[in-house]
Amino acid sequence: MLDWLNDDQRALRDMAATFARKEVEPLAVQIDRDEHTPDSLIAKAGEFGLFGLYTSPEYGGAGCDLVSACLVVEEVAKASPAFAGALTVQMILCPKTVEILGTEAQKQRILPKSASGERLIAYSQSEPSGAGNIASHLTKLVPEGAGEGGGWRLDGSKLFCTQSAAKTYLVMCKTIDRSGKEGYGCIIVEQEAEGFEVLAYEHKLGWRGTNTGPLNFNNIRIEDDGILGDISNGGIAHRAANTANVIAHAATSLGCAQGMFDKTLAYVKERRLYGKDMYELQPVAFWLAEAHAKLTAMRALIYANAAAFDRGALEPAMGNVCKAWVCDTAFDICARLLQLWGGSGIMDSTGVNRYMRDAKAKCIAEGATEMHYAIIANQLLHGVGTMIRPAEK
Ligand SMILES: Cc1cc2nc3c(=O)[nH]c(=O)nc-3n(C[C@H](O)[C@H](O)[C@H](O)COP(=O)(O)OP(=O)(O)OC[C@H]3O[C@@H](n4cnc5c(N)ncnc54)[C@H](O)[C@@H]3O)c2cc1C
Repeated sequence: MLDWLNDDQRALRDMAATFARKEVEPLAVQIDRDEHTPDSLIAKAGEFGLFGLYTSPEYGGAGCDLVSACLVVEEVAKASPAFAGALTVQMILCPKTVEILGTEAQKQRILPKSASGERLIAYSQSEPSGAGNIASHLTKLVPEGAGEGGGWRLDGSKLFCTQSAAKTYLVMCKTIDRSGKEGYGCIIVEQEAEGFEVLAYEHKLGWRGTNTGPLNFNNIRIEDDGILGDISNGGIAHRAANTANVIAHAATSLGCAQGMFDKTLAYVKERRLYGKDMYELQPVAFWLAEAHAKLTAMRALIYANAAAFDRGALEPAMGNVCKAWVCDTAFDICARLLQLWGGSGIMDSTGVNRYMRDAKAKCIAEGATEMHYAIIANQLLHGVGTMIRPAEK
């Protein structure tokens, strides 16, 4: 499988596998238990170049393609799906959004520090009225003074922001420009901004290496260079960054299920039941074979579409197909394989139930499965690659 990878991609995958085995795996249970990624691991990931992998070289990155990025996050996810989840935000979603929308000055200001990991960066869209239902969002940017240089004010609140201990935030919100025109924009908010608050830490089921917290923007002053791209459509104009990210997010789900599979296969080979090897029980062997078949199909789907993305030939809604199907299938695999561990899988001490919990979180994060199926359905029925939003207001 993946015999078409080039030498650079293979070498990178091997290096990422070594990094994951040596640096991530020993901390994976701790990350899940403490709901926190140690600063030492973030520093090592920065030194290794993980954060800048998908950022262009002129802004301090390695300029790798999406196939390479997916290979890396898959390897990391085998060890810690939680760490890999936050990694895609810092490696792909945020820097690519800035590269696509930003002015040269904004790119120079943000990207080298995000690529090195010196400044963590987060992406905040979800609101209490529904993450994808942007027409209902209340967070708003309005002009303050008249004319250029007059500045802006941002007011509102957000939910579920991964990496909410970040230093820089890309905030998607409603906007009103100086002519009164309404739109949806992308605003850069720095952690130090007066009126900005990260609210209480929320404990969660899975993907526990980072806070996924609520944010408050209390009438924050924003200068003109805090608006990323077009004030009226910056928040929806960076589809390429979102698409790359959902494919990479699916790759983390693949890594999550593969990590669970690898550990389960090793366990089943060792475990004896009723005086014989456990795998001699036919359903056990079949479940492993079924999981292997699904993992093979997931891998084929993700890398074919990542390569198509890199060639600029991705078919409509295929990023959504990857996200919806791979994440749900990864959860099914993890839940099924956990069964093979019996009571030991339920106990935290074996360190495997986190895979199932992380897999479930990944079915919701980056858009719930049904939101992606809604986009796929819209593409199939109407030829439009955007979501059908029931009761959008
Ligand atoms: C671990 C984690 C990390 C996250 N990180 C971030 C982040 O960094 N930034 C950010 O902005 N958000 C983030 N989110 C939020 C995430 O994108 C949303 O939770 C997700 O998109 C679902 O939106 P919602 O929670 O508002 O659910 P709702 O919109 O209330 O939807 C509830 C359910 O309704 C169904 N549904 C929703 N829309 C449709 C539709 N169009 N058609 C059919 N059924 C539908 C789905 O089953 C969905 O689960 C994160 C969430 C999690 C769990």
